[in-house]
Amino acid sequence: MQTHMLINGELVAGTGAAIPMVDPATGAEIARVNEADPEQVEAAVRSSAEAFETFSRSTPAERSAVLLAIADRLEANQDELAELESMDVGKPWPSARDDEMPLTIDTFRFFAGAARTMTGSAAGEYVAGHTSMIRRDPVGPVAAIAPWNYPLMMAAWKLAAPIAAGCSVVLKPSELTPLSTLRAAELLNDILPKGVLNVIHGAGPTTGDQLINSPAMEAITVTGSPATGMAAMRAAGNQIRHVHLELGGKAPVIVFDDADIDAVAETIRYGSFFNAGQDCAQPCRVLAQNGIYEKLVAAVAGQVGQIQTGAQKAEGTEMGPVISAIQRDRVAGFVDRARPACEVVTGGSAGDGNGYFYQPTVLANVDNDAEIATTEVFGPVVSISRFGDAEDALQIANAGRYGLASSVWTANVGRAMEMTSRLRYGFTWVNTHGVGTPEMPWAAMKGSGTGCDMSVYALDAYTSVRHVMVAH
Ligand code: NAD
Repeated sequence: MQTHMLINGELVAGTGAAIPMVDPATGAEIARVNEADPEQVEAAVRSSAEAFETFSRSTPAERSAVLLAIADRLEANQDELAELESMDVGKPWPSARDDEMPLTIDTFRFFAGAARTMTGSAAGEYVAGHTSMIRRDPVGPVAAIAPWNYPLMMAAWKLAAPIAAGCSVVLKPSELTPLSTLRAAELLNDILPKGVLNVIHGAGPTTGDQLINSPAMEAITVTGSPATGMAAMRAAGNQIRHVHLELGGKAPVIVFDDADIDAVAETIRYGSFFNAGQDCAQPCRVLAQNGIYEKLVAAVAGQVGQIQTGAQKAEGTEMGPVISAIQRDRVAGFVDRARPACEVVTGGSAGDGNGYFYQPTVLANVDNDAEIATTEVFGPVVSISRFGDAEDALQIANAGRYGLASSVWTANVGRAMEMTSRLRYGFTWVNTHGVGTPEMPWAAMKGSGTGCDMSVYALDAYTSVRHVMVAH
């Protein structure tokens, strides 16, 4: 198994402490990966700064070719990468290969095209005797921090856009799930110019902290929890750096009386419990209009009650374990605190055995202000609450601290348009939830972050707009 980091074009073992990697389905150790020590972090940062000097002057066509080659190399090795991902995170094996790898690969193909669309917006004589032009140039070496829920896909989101923009990147995957990223680094090493990608391994408060506070890193990009986003903002504040954050969510699913209830229930089954609910856009906070509340609770319970949990490759597994014992206990804590004030419709306890399983859980009759309705659980738990009319639903949904995903379910197009225009979320689906594509922004508002991943707008985080003026 490849457990070495990529520093300045060389695969090197970490010389810091060894972190055990655990199969979440069994609790058994699968590997040990040594952290970078501070000198190794420094070497990665230095390499990135050196590589930026030449890579930032590459042509869009050259960067596009690199991104296409990356996509091809990942595609040729997708079974192996999905295998690592499935083992490391506990995901059902078919899902790691068939749901995540295509989007991971397509992200690089999309940005191969996007690299060639970057233009300045104006050139002309705004002052007599002078010509002005607007340039859009790579911002500098990027410190990138990725989470554990979709390790390789999130690494792709953190890499493809800065590379398209002409930036070098030092990437730190989550210390819980580095295996697919370390293998990808090995696979891509002969495609990328030396130093354009450095991958280091280690814990957030040590290795991650050193990386985001390095003076050589000119932008910080994080996908992770709000606490890590705040650490990144503090680091950026200390040195005045660009910062791009994709953080947690608590997606409201607003279901009106005229909605297709069966479609909602199916989406909850396949969307809310995908990746054991560890998804920033998880449709986890169902708001049901009074008229369909009972019917919706019954339909959701019927669907969710059928979910089969199990190990990655066990026949029929629809949902795996959560990532760790800590995460399972955190999920259980949320449910146990909510239990006295709501109705546990299905699930509500941990699974048997040594793995980190928690039952697919639906809680109904939840108060709209309850902790379980307003705080991100990041596990296989859905709450269902009531609302009266559209104004009521908007007030409840917009009161939350997060602003990532949301959805509206109704047969009334006018009402859907009115709701989508007033929801303060980075993205809103109508009569679906969770469908993503690289052309469209994965955008954050409020406590969910700044800017977006994917789409041409992701390039904004990695480019600076510049003015050049020539006197005639
Ligand atoms: P986390 O914040 O605990 O860890 C994410 C990464 O940050 C890890 O690599 C970790 O080592 C690093 N980190 C932690 N503290 C740090 C510090 N002080 N300095 C530098 N780096 C530090 O998050 P997680 O538990 O891995 O992921 C779950 C969170 O990620 C959830 O809140 C989820 O909603 C969010 N997420 C958001 C998106 C999105 O697109 N908005 C996508 C996936 C996950």
